[in-house]
Amino acid sequence: MHGTIMLGVDVESPHEHALGYATYGADLYHELDIPVTFFLTGKVIEAYPDTWRSLEDDPLIHLEAHTYNHLLLKTVCLKVPPGMEIHNSRDYFLKRGASLEEIESDLSQCVQVFRDVIGRPPRGLTGPWGYYRGLQDRPDILDIVASHGFKFLRTFLRDQWDGQPVPLTWTPFFYSPQGHPDILECLVHGYQDDFYWQAYNPSKSESDYPAHLKLLTNEIVKNGWIWSAASHDHGCATREGFGKKASWIREWVRYAKACGVRFLSYEQFYQESLRELRQESTNV
Ligand SMILES: [Zn+2]
Repeated sequence: MHGTIMLGVDVESPHEHALGYATYGADLYHELDIPVTFFLTGKVIEAYPDTWRSLEDDPLIHLEAHTYNHLLLKTVCLKVPPGMEIHNSRDYFLKRGASLEEIESDLSQCVQVFRDVIGRPPRGLTGPWGYYRGLQDRPDILDIVASHGFKFLRTFLRDQWDGQPVPLTWTPFFYSPQGHPDILECLVHGYQDDFYWQAYNPSKSESDYPAHLKLLTNEIVKNGWIWSAASHDHGCATREGFGKKASWIREWVRYAKACGVRFLSYEQFYQESLRELRQESTNV
């Protein structure tokens, strides 16, 4: 019972923040010696093709998709808890999801950019902003996602108020009821990043975030749970900017490794989940 962590980073800013994350992030994850998955927008790939092409051969860094243009697959309707201000709102914050036509067109473009620049189609997709229930209630969107070859998703990133945190007791699942038994929803647990944790914990300071992450780590170690975790490239254009993310990632990962947690890429987790699923169906 040591728990498992997958860390996925949305690298989504089509300018120097993405380039900074590629450069400094590669150093950090090699220093920590853990696999990490970068979920790239198509625009970011087009902006820095040589960077991603060279990272494709890196054994620790896995490249997957975050749509072409950071397109929302579903509407986010966030109910702001009393007394808080989130996304400049004090009651509700609404961001409208794309149409089916827009999703089809965006994902086509995203997959094509992967093929053209990286030389293969992506298999993993993080839905921009993330949604409650993932795509369980939108089999029409899931059908489109499936038709583009995606096998493991991070689209379930919010609670029933479209807020945070997502509890660790909500576990990854295959989309069998929707007719896609080989597509895995991995979720993102906890808060999507340090900025969301800060928004939901306004009385605490930035430096308290690692302590929160260590508490969650203790939970997964005690229970042998899966933790799908996230961060972003925001503010990472410079070494100093990246350093803010790196300091809590470093402290948390070192703690988790000392606790015996294993780190997997999302592709590795998908393969393992698929093997377990097939084993279960053979045993029945
Ligand atoms: Zn994003």
